[in-house]
Amino acid sequence: MHFDFSPKVKELQARVTAFMEEHIYPAEAVFMQQVAEGDRWQPTQIMEELKDKAKAAGLWNLFLPESELGAGLTNVEYAPLAEIMGRSLIASEVFNCSAPDTGNMEVLVRYGTEEHKKQWLEPLLKGEIRSCFGMTEPGVASSDATNMEARAVRDGDEWVINGRKWWTSGANDPRCKIMIFMGLTNPDAPRHQQHSMILVPMDTPGLKILRHLPVFGYDDAPHGHAEILLENVRVPYSNVLLGEGRGFEIAQGRLGPGRIHHCMRAIGCAERALELMCKRSMTRTAFGKPLARLGGNIDKIADSRMEIDMARLLTLKAAYMMDTVGNKFAKSEIAQIKVVAPNVALQVIDRAIQLHGGAGVSEDFPLAYWYAMMRTLRFADGPDEVHRMAIGKLELGKYMPAKA
Ligand SMILES: Cc1cc2nc3c(=O)[nH]c(=O)nc-3n(C[C@H](O)[C@H](O)[C@H](O)COP(=O)(O)OP(=O)(O)OC[C@H]3O[C@@H](n4cnc5c(N)ncnc54)[C@H](O)[C@@H]3O)c2cc1C
Repeated sequence: MHFDFSPKVKELQARVTAFMEEHIYPAEAVFMQQVAEGDRWQPTQIMEELKDKAKAAGLWNLFLPESELGAGLTNVEYAPLAEIMGRSLIASEVFNCSAPDTGNMEVLVRYGTEEHKKQWLEPLLKGEIRSCFGMTEPGVASSDATNMEARAVRDGDEWVINGRKWWTSGANDPRCKIMIFMGLTNPDAPRHQQHSMILVPMDTPGLKILRHLPVFGYDDAPHGHAEILLENVRVPYSNVLLGEGRGFEIAQGRLGPGRIHHCMRAIGCAERALELMCKRSMTRTAFGKPLARLGGNIDKIADSRMEIDMARLLTLKAAYMMDTVGNKFAKSEIAQIKVVAPNVALQVIDRAIQLHGGAGVSEDFPLAYWYAMMRTLRFADGPDEVHRMAIGKLELGKYMPAKA
């Protein structure tokens, strides 16, 4: 077992770190200012400038394993780079490595036809457009995806789609041109063959964005999270991905990498929160001592270090399993890290907020915004409980009598 990254990865880590220090950290405040100044739902100039710089530096599309279209990195190789990107909420988009585009691009690479790839994958890979993923619905418990009710019915050479989606991340952004819609197409088929994924261009008549949904008051503009109505939306029948009734086959492939990317970034976010916690608690004094030396504060710092290191190792184990046995057989490890990483990040951010006092919940530090974003990860892409259920079942399965 090696605990060291290859020379190729170390070189990339150094380049991504240098890029973050030179371009991204100084741009965080500029990004926030540009969002605040104009129409919040328009792309910012600073983001487009940073994307050009990342492209020119060859730090582009670093995700995308098993494809010539990306940087040719495995999940284990990508993990430490995504961790560095997770240190800033604006970084992953700069490198064209942000959700939900990465998951959607992987779907198009694996299951798109040549026509789908030309129309949607190529501009996504170039960072010219963005995309969204429409699965969750307000009317049903969406942690059980077999509940999805939005309907797509075949009418000759077309699908006619009706339904309502919400929490569709990125849909508010005018650069978002395509949705991967998941809906009910074959209600009489077996439970996991009833749903399909269909490409729906965002400018199709009948698709209406009803509102944006803030998270604890943060609108996450210009990306945002939308509630969407689909009323008699017509798209060509050929927009179905992989085939009718095969939505769950795709979901299994899509959500694996998407989930682990969130976890990699969560570790980076926790790492930066710990850094802020250490710096603040060493430089601020109360009762004659630095905050770090008061009460159990040093234990909070030590616990954070231990938890982050454990979560990182589990992330790498899951990434290794995905690379070696495939996403399907890495199911338990992916579920484990999907529970562990957001919870660890939240604990660390919470301690950092506490040690910052009032400053921790202000907008002078990124901690409150990070907390809001990380909190959603305990149920987005599947609640903790559902992942625990999957892990537990796999564990019990080992002791099931052969007959059962
Ligand atoms: C910021 C944000 C971004 C999102 N982005 C997207 C997106 O881009 N596309 C998209 O389709 N969706 C997105 N979502 C939606 C997210 O994936 C869903 O909220 C999530 O899957 C849970 O579904 P639900 O909200 O319907 O909760 P429900 O299914 O109603 O579940 C509510 C709660 O019930 C409990 N529960 C559920 N199942 C079990 C169980 N088996 N055992 C014990 N308890 C259980 C859990 O505590 C769970 O949190 C996003 C959500 C947020 C907040």
